[in-house]
Amino acid sequence: MTRTPQTLLHEILRDLARFGADSSGGVSRLLYTPAWREAHDHLAGVMQRLGLRVEADRVGNLYGRLDGSTPDAPVVLTGSHLDTVTRGGTLDGAYGIAAGIEALVWLRDTWGTPRRPLEVVAFCEEEGSRFPLMCWGSGNVTGMNDCREAGRHRAADGVTLKEAMEAAGFGRATQRESRRTDLGVYVEAHIEQGILLERRGKRIGIVEAIVGQRRLGVTVGGSANHAGTTPMDLRRDALAGVAEMILELEALAVRAGPPLVATVGHVEMRPNTPNVIPGSVMFTLDIRHTNEERLASFCAAVLERFATLAERRGLTLEHAQRSSAQPAPMDARLRDALQSLCEERGLSYQRMVSGAGHDAQMFRSVCPAGMLFVPSRNGVSHSPEEYSSPEALADGLEVLGGLLHRLAYQGLLDG
Ligand SMILES: [Zn+2]
Repeated sequence: MTRTPQTLLHEILRDLARFGADSSGGVSRLLYTPAWREAHDHLAGVMQRLGLRVEADRVGNLYGRLDGSTPDAPVVLTGSHLDTVTRGGTLDGAYGIAAGIEALVWLRDTWGTPRRPLEVVAFCEEEGSRFPLMCWGSGNVTGMNDCREAGRHRAADGVTLKEAMEAAGFGRATQRESRRTDLGVYVEAHIEQGILLERRGKRIGIVEAIVGQRRLGVTVGGSANHAGTTPMDLRRDALAGVAEMILELEALAVRAGPPLVATVGHVEMRPNTPNVIPGSVMFTLDIRHTNEERLASFCAAVLERFATLAERRGLTLEHAQRSSAQPAPMDARLRDALQSLCEERGLSYQRMVSGAGHDAQMFRSVCPAGMLFVPSRNGVSHSPEEYSSPEALADGLEVLGGLLHRLAYQGLLDG
């Protein structure tokens, strides 16, 4: 097989980087903002010029399609997300879209009409940076989210998701429904956003599973009192209790071992004053694992341990789950196909877990999904420093193109 060209890939990435470019050298392209809308229009124009059939759905997912010679066959879909985090990089999301477009054009120009319809998608949102929800785009496609719930979500500035969506020109009943029931397989290329591939000197990451995730809010209550007049043995110091909990969480997570990870990323306390004993502390828990039972049992064990620690200090403890995502194993046939494509091309590979969430996890109950990673320099992402070498981007495109060829032209996963 001839090597996939990469001219389009780099052009698309360079052009998309302009939309939402900020003074930090990074990109802030949040859902339904003017920068996002301009990127959307630009991408639609690019796909149109390349001869793909372009259509956006009701929430603003953008598709480019090559019809198949078997028109009713389940669609082979590839892509990623168009939005970025605030001051993010130029590759997170954009890479999967640009590689998808280049792969489709190359396949059509080399092999003609595919047997199965072949589509590339730019999902409107994955990051959860403007509104407190993730994978709004792919969630609407797979039925995990519903456009009609948009009025319930609010950004930090008070704007509802519905208002933002309508202001960007979406959310109209006349626009195509987002939910798809014609999908046969979803494949995503993405930068790793971690350091494993670089450390191990591997060129392609084959994702075995995307971790499941629990996010909880925990509140510990003690009594705020005078820092000078309250003796040590008569205190109910909420922060001292929380300090113990955080160290205990770390110890439990280390003992559980990979792929489990647990993080306290946000802490607030009251009254937060130098001469007052902390009266209450709120903190978040972010816990991830690829196995649902282990994830659930770890969370239960942590909360039980927290309760014991709180009781010993006379503190109150409350917790509430804020979000939850189940682990998403990637399809074994797609993983094997990715491995054989790497072997054929002499590309070293690493089978690995994705500790970050991705659109691919939303397809869990809809159709088989597969995912490949390319190395991120120094493992950095969600930063203007995000970078993957042109060679790395080309490797990923090459493997993606090969996989789409097997799926849309050669009957992998047919029947
Ligand atoms: Zn991403």
